[in-house]
Amino acid sequence: MTERRLTPEIIRRFTVDGEPWLSCDDCFARVDEYVDRMLADPDYDSPAMSAHLRGCGACAEEMATLLDLAARDAGVDPQPVLPRLGRWCQG
Ligand SMILES: [Zn+2]
Repeated sequence: MTERRLTPEIIRRFTVDGEPWLSCDDCFARVDEYVDRMLADPDYDSPAMSAHLRGCGACAEEMATLLDLAARDAGVDPQPVLPRLGRWCQG
């Protein structure tokens, strides 16, 4: 029976992309731009942002709200991006 722990090896894997682990403040500062880019290009991704959103339900929900508003504002269909939100928000 193995225990799952946040070992230095796992942390290294998260940060190996060269982007720093984001705090909630960093995430909040970038989320507008992230949403805009994702709506413009459903394949757009930011490893640091998606890593934070996977691990932080509060920011994932904030982002889901923003995405919905931004999509309506822009008259864009958010459907292509929604499967990702589902993964993040399941928490
Ligand atoms: Zn957060």
